Amino acid sequence: MFNKDTLEYHYSDRNRLAPLPHLQRQISKTASSMSDIDQKFRLPKRYEGSEPSVWVEYIQLALDHKPLNLGQGFPDYPPPKYITNALIEVASNRNLHQYTRGFGHPRLVQALAKLYSKLIGREINPHTEILTTLGAYEALFSSITGHVDEGDEVIIIEPYFDCYEPMVKYAGGIPRYIALKPKKTDSPVLSSADFVLDKDELQGLFNSKTKVLILNTPNNPLGKVFTRDELTLIADLCKKYNVLCISDEVYEWMVYKPYEHVRIATLPGMWERTITIGSAGKTFSVTGWKLGWAYGPANLMFNLQMIHQNSVYTGCTPIQEATAIAFETELARLGSDESYFVSISKELEPKREFMAKFLQEAGMKPIVPEGGYFMMADWSPLESQVDLNSEKDKYKDYRFTKWMTKNIGLQGIPPTAFYNESHKPLGENFVRYCFIKQDKNLQAAADILRKWKSG
Ligand code: PMP
Ligand code: GLN
Repeated sequence: MFNKDTLEYHYSDRNRLAPLPHLQRQISKTASSMSDIDQKFRLPKRYEGSEPSVWVEYIQLALDHKPLNLGQGFPDYPPPKYITNALIEVASNRNLHQYTRGFGHPRLVQALAKLYSKLIGREINPHTEILTTLGAYEALFSSITGHVDEGDEVIIIEPYFDCYEPMVKYAGGIPRYIALKPKKTDSPVLSSADFVLDKDELQGLFNSKTKVLILNTPNNPLGKVFTRDELTLIADLCKKYNVLCISDEVYEWMVYKPYEHVRIATLPGMWERTITIGSAGKTFSVTGWKLGWAYGPANLMFNLQMIHQNSVYTGCTPIQEATAIAFETELARLGSDESYFVSISKELEPKREFMAKFLQEAGMKPIVPEGGYFMMADWSPLESQVDLNSEKDKYKDYRFTKWMTKNIGLQGIPPTAFYNESHKPLGENFVRYCFIKQDKNLQAAADILRKWKSG
């Protein structure tokens, strides 16, 4: 039953049901002050310690304070017309509004198989080697819970997309973390390429209990695009210790020249131990469609199918059909300049340059990403201009981003959300901003910062 003392909900103006951030979870209450209902209906043990995520908290923060929002990653402009037109066409077809095949709508898995067979250089079976899911989130969830057992160790590279950690823990796994760290450079502007893994530290994490390594390239939030050499190191260790690689590649089409997206599944001996994950939300700039997929060898995909079959069973038919049409359009022009998979990076590149410039002018030190549409920046040179004591959060980046939202009207995301507890200090001096935004809004962000600096 809904308990007003422990968790209160209200509807936001975007019709989202969001927990009020100031309300504490039941778990923080002492047993003696709990009602019978509170005591009995706590989160089950395996989910204990779960807290509202940075997304829940910062989406509410944006709704409450209405800043210029460069926080959550989504385009603030419409997707390409051929994509929305595909959905219009599908919506008017009377036959596409009922359940479709559970493991993936036939037209979509065919299109995905065609595309990834070309990209991976091997024939992918649309029925046994692909699963479509409710966003990349569900693909991650099915991959992780479909493989991780009680006590299995899972290597997670930091900074990491925040849901990896709870998903591993829910499955009874033990996350083992390794942080990307900046190498020494004389350059005044850092690149995400300057952040590297220490080979010995990585090697030291692998042992007979290691079951999975989660890779994210291009990485969110850093924008790092792993090089072929770095991927080869990871692949060799996965092979040596018989480890599965879950490769989150949702930003596969957002890579800036001269960098290249390498799919780890294409490295020798890796197809048989890799599950690769994608997202229509990122691929076609339709984050609200919440359609994702995973592909890999049939024996591994079976494990995902079982989780999916008994939790979600089947995805949304019209969204899958429209995405299939969009992929068919792209397949016909793959690699050409008209391809959205080519043009999206070209469209984003000047936005990336502009953001790096205005953050620098504001006194921050940006880390220019090689891929994705986020930029991390060191805000610590501005610390004396910010009243960090006005916020109560443990980590400075939370206090900085909240103060900026409330007082300056510009929202970013605190990167400590992407580190495990013991490594959070590595993210404290940074903020993450999203640059898949209209030029006028990026200009407005630049103006806000300039006015603040000069005020
Ligand atoms: N992985 C990464 C790295 C992400 O940034 C996101 C955010 N969208 C996801 C997975 C989840 O994607 P989706 O919205 O398709 O569930
Ligand atoms: N992937 C997006 C981001 O990193 C959205 C995350 C979310 O809303 N959970 O901003």
